[in-house]
This record gives sequence, structure tokens and C-alpha cells, in this order.
Amino acid sequence: MKPALHKLALAVVLAAAAAASAQAQDSVDADRLLEQADAVRSTDPIRFGAVLDEVNERASELSGPQLQHLRLLQAYRLGYGGQYQGAIELARDVFDSASAGAIKFRAGLLLANSAATTRDFSLALKSLEETIALPDDGIPSELVEQAQLVAGVIYNQLGQHEKTLQFASSVQQMEAASERSRCFASQLRHEALANLQPERSGERIPQIREAIAACDGIGEAVASNLMRINLARSMAAQGDRTGAIAMLQAHADEVGRTRYPRLVAEFHSTLADYLLIESRLDAASMHAHAALEASHNNAHSLPRVTAYRVLYEIALVRNDILQALDNYRRHAEADKAYLDDVKIRELAVQQIRNEVQQKDQAIALLSKQNEVLKLEQQVAKASAQNTRLLLLLFAVVLAGIGYWAYKIKRVQMAFRRQAQTDGLTGISNRRHFRDEADALLKRCSASGKDAALVLLDLDNFKHVNDRHGHAAGDWVLMQVAEACTAACRDGDLCGRLGGEEFGILSCGGDIDAARRIAERCRTLLAAIDTATIGHAHRVTASFGCTTASRSGNAFESMFTDADTAMYRAKGSGRDRIVVHGDVATPASPVAPFEPSHG
Ligand code: GH3
Ligand code: MG
Ligand code: MG
Repeated sequence: MKPALHKLALAVVLAAAAAASAQAQDSVDADRLLEQADAVRSTDPIRFGAVLDEVNERASELSGPQLQHLRLLQAYRLGYGGQYQGAIELARDVFDSASAGAIKFRAGLLLANSAATTRDFSLALKSLEETIALPDDGIPSELVEQAQLVAGVIYNQLGQHEKTLQFASSVQQMEAASERSRCFASQLRHEALANLQPERSGERIPQIREAIAACDGIGEAVASNLMRINLARSMAAQGDRTGAIAMLQAHADEVGRTRYPRLVAEFHSTLADYLLIESRLDAASMHAHAALEASHNNAHSLPRVTAYRVLYEIALVRNDILQALDNYRRHAEADKAYLDDVKIRELAVQQIRNEVQQKDQAIALLSKQNEVLKLEQQVAKASAQNTRLLLLLFAVVLAGIGYWAYKIKRVQMAFRRQAQTDGLTGISNRRHFRDEADALLKRCSASGKDAALVLLDLDNFKHVNDRHGHAAGDWVLMQVAEACTAACRDGDLCGRLGGEEFGILSCGGDIDAARRIAERCRTLLAAIDTATIGHAHRVTASFGCTTASRSGNAFESMFTDADTAMYRAKGSGRDRIVVHGDVATPASPVAPFEPSHG
């Protein structure tokens, strides 16, 4: 080679080396910038945005994983700016395209969080379950902890408190778990237990106090004060409402400083509620307004229901009828929005449960088909040598298919049962009750028998929710469903026909039988011991009865007559039985129910 050529070659090699090292340097710089952005993303939004823009300008030079990291950070940025839809789309894109690892895991969590924020609970649950199912090797343990805590929060929101308990204890059992994660895990645990076992709130008081002290020790005011609300409810249920008020009031400033809307709203609505019961109207009104202000972006939140009820009752006491009416209207709207939201969350859970079952079914089918294919091949080979083996193999195949068909049948039956039962009480829902009632009435009239229909609507049930919370209300509804079932004979139909309305249809019963069923049910309701959930009052209902011989054989006409009779029972003082077609309304031997303020 000539010397000139040598020089040229050397120059080319050097230039290439320089370019490669510059590229490597660029890549290191990009990683450094991405890490910098990550470090400040939640604490310094301005710097976060600036660093992100800087990396973005060099997007064309980034490697695949760096690009994914950048897009993940851009998704966070959209979320912080309240652009949740944009955050969801970008996070979903990163989640779908990234290969397993920390970025994919984080994208899944962000997706679940943003979806829960926009109340798209199906998406939240789906992405959460997919994220948790990712292989966790190479994922830092803080991220796994964080995922379990997010799961705990979402499952509590969806009323799946058992699942929250599992995730909370999983965090508490992780040796490396930080104090902060332990603190949040204990808050989630106590929130779940308050819903699952309201009757045991008294026993938990010492544990809650201990958990609050631990969170206070590391300055986690959000978690410690969420638990203080829980503690206050437990204290009030034990009869120490004054102590509960004093404890909450002592932390009002601290709660305000957290600026966390859910905490602030729950805190003030609880205080407002207790102060109202103690007739401290000015203070109650002040806290009710604070709860409304903190929840103004959350039309379906429970604190709004409580706050408007408190304001309504205050206006009533002050004889300001117009104000009372206005607040009552807002209270009813808030209550409806809240219950609608509960339904949406229940639906999301059911939808995901069905999807999972369908997926399992499809996988089972595929693997069965695979097995059949394999067996067929083996049979083909073996048949030349051994016909007995062939028969045996076919028997195995048939048994396998038979077993699988049985499993499918069971899943289908489980679906059908789910669609027919009321999610809370486990008895028939309205639609199923109606369908069954039509069929039962036809059979009954074909065999020349009469049929008795009893409808009941709980008295002043709203007070139970208002005074003791929806969890207590739900507990009462479950007890009532048990009582109605116990009042039935074999072959009778029993269903939950609406929020706090139940129905019993009995074939072969005449008007006396209808009255007896209603009496039995009334006695069983009176025996429900509400003291176990921290307050004592009698559960009563208004009953309306009729028979096919009085109202005709069609369910519609029987229902209308029993419903009208039930409304007569309401109108004449509640807690009584009115029979369609009877002239006189029997007076109730028991004093009408007055909601207790305990
Ligand atoms: P009345 O004696 O006139 O029947 O009074 P009431 O308070 O029982 O009747 P109202 O129709 O005013 O209120 C029914 C309440 O039932 C409203 C709602 O808060 C409550 N409710 C409906 N469905 C549910 C539920 O699934 N859970 C709970 N906890 N409450 C429910
Ligand atoms: Mg009612
Ligand atoms: Mg009703």
C-alpha cells in the first residue's frame, strides 16, 4: 500500500472510531438525562419538563429502550397536567410495545392509575392484573411494592376488600419493604377491615392507634389521617363520639395542609356528621361546607352525600324551609350519583371476572385440542402394534373431553347464576324474580291453587345509611335478605326487587297464608341485632299482601295490588301489614320506628 493510501485509511479508521465513541457518549448522555427527569418528575415539574424537552429534541438519536423510557416520562407528564386520556393512550402504547422489564411494568402501573382516576375501572383492573402478572425478575422491589399498594387502593375502591387485604399483607411481609410502604399498607388494611367486619371495629382500636403512630413517625400525614377517620368511626360506634370529635378537630390543620381531596372531604364530612348529632350546628355547617369544597370535582363521592344531609338537617332545625328543600334536593342527587357509581364499579368487577373466565376457557379448549391431536398421533403409531392400547387411549380422550364439557357446563351455570342473583345479598334479583314468578303462577293456576304475594319495603332505611354509613346499610340489607329467606317455605320465591324492597311469592297460599308469611318476616326483622355493628335500633318494614284469587293470576296485577297495599302501610304509620281488599287497616301494636342517633 502506498503511504498516501495508508494515511487515508488511518484517517477513515480514526474518524469512524471517533464517530462511534461520540455515539456511545450521546447514548450515555441520554440515559443520564432520562434518569435526571425521572428523579425530579414528581417534585420539580418545571425542571422535569425542561429535561424532557431536551431529550425529546434528540429523539432521533435514541436507542429503542431509551425511546420507550422517554415516552413513559411523557405519559407521566400528561397525567400530571390532568390530561389523563393522553396519558392512558401513551402508557398503553409503551406497555404493549415494551418488552418485559421495569419500563413495561411502570407503564402498566401508570395506565392502571390513570384509568382509575378517570373511573374507567374495567381498564384499570385489566391493566393492573396484567402488570402484576408480569415476570418480576429485574424489577426493583420498590416497584413491586408500589404495584401492590396501587392494587390495594384500586381493589378497595371496587369493594374487593379481601383482595386489598392480600396485597397489604404481601407488602407487610416483604422484608425490604420501606417504612412508607408499610404505613400505606396498614392504612389499606384497616380501610378494608372497616368494610369487611364493621361489627369488630371496637377490637381494632388499639391496632389502628399503633398504625397511626407509625405513620406519624415518618410524617405520612395522608395515611395517618385516613386512619384517624377510621378510628373516629370506631370510637363513635363504641359510644365515644365526643372523644372522636376532639381527636379529629386536633388534626384539622394538618389534614388541610395535605391538600389531598379525598382525605379532606372525608375528614370534614365525618366531623360535620358527628357535630350535628351533638347539636353544634355552626361547627357542623362549617365542616359540611369544607367537605363540599374539597369534593367539588367528585360528584359521586360519599362525603357529598353526608355533607348535604347535614346541611339539610341544620336548615330544618333552623326552620329555614327553602334552604332545607334545596339541600335535600342536592342530597338526593348526590346519593343517587354515589349509588350509580357503586353500580359502575360492580359492573367493572363482573366484566373482568367474565373475561378472565372466558380466557381460561379458551386456553383450556386449546390445550385439550392439542392433547387430542397428540393422542391421535400416538394412536396412529400404536394401532399397528396394539389395538388394546388404541381403545385405552380413546377412552382417555373421551374421558378428557367429557370432563372438559362438564367444566364448561359449570362455568356456564356460574354465569347464569351471576346474572340471576343480586350481587349484595345473593338472593334473586328483580328480573329473575319476575321470570320465575310468571312460571310459578302458571303452574299454580294450572293445578287450581291460589298464590300469595308479599312485598316489603324497609322503613326509613335512608336514615341507616345517613346515620351509620353505606357499609352498615349494606350489612342490614344482607340480614334482611336472610330474614326473608327464613320466612319462606320450600318452593317459595324470594327476591330483592329494588334498593330496600323485597318480595316473596308462595304457591298454594291463601290470604291467611300471605298474612302469616308477612308476620313471620316482620318478627324476624325485629330480631336483627344491629348492636353488633355499633348502633341499636329496630329494623322494620311496611308490608303489602295479596293473592291470585283477589288480584288475578297475572304477576303484574298482583304486584300492582300488593304495591298499593304496601304504600297504604307506609301511609298509615309504617311497620305494619296491609292486605289488599281488606277494609280495615289493623293498627300496629309496636310504636313506629324512630331513627336512633346513637
Ligand atoms: P320509607 O320508609 O318511606 O321507605 O323511607 P326510606 O328511607 O326507606 O325510603 P327512600 O326511598 O327514601 O330511600 C331508600 C334508600 O335506600 C335510598 C338509598 O340510599 C338506599 N339504598 C338503595 N340501594 C342501596 C344499597 O344497595 N345499599 C345501601 N346501603 N343503600 C341503598
Ligand atoms: Mg323504604
Ligand atoms: Mg323503597
